[in-house]
Amino acid sequence: MREVTIRDTLSGEVRPLEPGPMGEVGIYACGPTTYGPIHIGNARPYVVFSLLRRFLAHEGYAPTLVINLTDVNDKIYDAAREAGMSSADHAERMIAAYRADTDALGLGRPDEEPKATETIGPIVSLIEDLVASGHAYESSGDVYFRVRSFPAYGQLSNRDTEQMDQGEEAGSAELKEDPLDFALWKARKEGEDTSWPSPWGDGRPGWHIECSAMAEDLLGLEFAIHGGGSDLVFPHHENELAQTEAARERPLAKIWMHNGMVQTRKQAGDTEKMAKSVGNVFLLGEAVRAFGPEAVVGFLVSGHYRQPLAFGEGALEEAAARNQRIREFFREGEDPPGEPAPAVLARREAFLDALADDFNTPRALAELFGLLADARREELPGARRVALELLELLGLESLAAPEDGGDGAAEAEGLLADRERARAERDFDRADEIRDRLAELGWEVRDTAEGARLVRRGS
Ligand SMILES: [Zn+2]
Repeated sequence: MREVTIRDTLSGEVRPLEPGPMGEVGIYACGPTTYGPIHIGNARPYVVFSLLRRFLAHEGYAPTLVINLTDVNDKIYDAAREAGMSSADHAERMIAAYRADTDALGLGRPDEEPKATETIGPIVSLIEDLVASGHAYESSGDVYFRVRSFPAYGQLSNRDTEQMDQGEEAGSAELKEDPLDFALWKARKEGEDTSWPSPWGDGRPGWHIECSAMAEDLLGLEFAIHGGGSDLVFPHHENELAQTEAARERPLAKIWMHNGMVQTRKQAGDTEKMAKSVGNVFLLGEAVRAFGPEAVVGFLVSGHYRQPLAFGEGALEEAAARNQRIREFFREGEDPPGEPAPAVLARREAFLDALADDFNTPRALAELFGLLADARREELPGARRVALELLELLGLESLAAPEDGGDGAAEAEGLLADRERARAERDFDRADEIRDRLAELGWEVRDTAEGARLVRRGS
């Protein structure tokens, strides 16, 4: 079992992972708010933490990965109203879309995917404990966390409390003792179609408390890693940390691990133009359909998880080109018989050491390409076998599989499913467009009694 180190945002240090006695490593990563389709930026923590789980399992640890679903929230109420549906139905539909989009990446599901709306009991009980110990107070049916009752507040984001803005709606200001305080429970408002009973009346949980409750419910306290995007450090994770530590007098997690943002030039200020040129590919589902899941995963592992990653179609094209070199390596030859050569094992060690050292996927990727280059220069037993083992740790093992004859059948099947959806929605122009696109790719759509079938053109 290799020692694994991770940079901890709280201490600012790269620290060794502290597994449980049986190698248990609890990982809680904050998941999406299910109000719309997820974009590449939301997919980054999904990919980073799913691959970290793979690597830890490979090294003999026993990881448990929890990624939650925030399925009650103001954004969901707004989006549901716009879609003319109940907020519960809208959230359910977006959860299904999120699962389909992330399933397509081929990394498997997290071990647990708790929903806020299914964790109300533990949430209410945690808030009750905070009220009882004086760390929280009720105000007109809302409950707020009393930030100044927790002197260590601000330690995670390293901010001066005077500079903090909880980013809460203006209307709550007069209900708070102090502008620094943040909501744990919100009384039901006019027009909100979901609420739960509580000692403070009908309402719903605030965002931060749900993660403290779900994490403790599934992983206990002082679990190994709490993760998420760096945009969550303040206020979300600062508040999670404060709530749990105030209520339990023990830390929530041992290591706080944050991934950098995926940046489009759109975010750098050049709005309209870039929004158009990046287009829908910023959505995970669209990116996977246009470039394939391996290009998306390959793009996301090409940068160190802590660094920002610049996104555009060019970035996915580059990833697809790198992937093609790996495919060719597997297609071009076979390993000579025998145990893996020392040069192969040295690359394998360097690859695994890179992942053990603060999960350095770009360095690991470089070792993998080094292995491919070595094996091109001379016949090396075990090169492909080991390369496959390593590719799996990057979520790219499908590159080693014989392609559907290299004919893009998987992409075509995806397009066919889109055409079926368009037809179901009676969007026949879109359906025809997709049929034409399939024709360009060399596929003919035949509508049969059992549904639409793809047939190679000319066959
Ligand atoms: Zn969270």
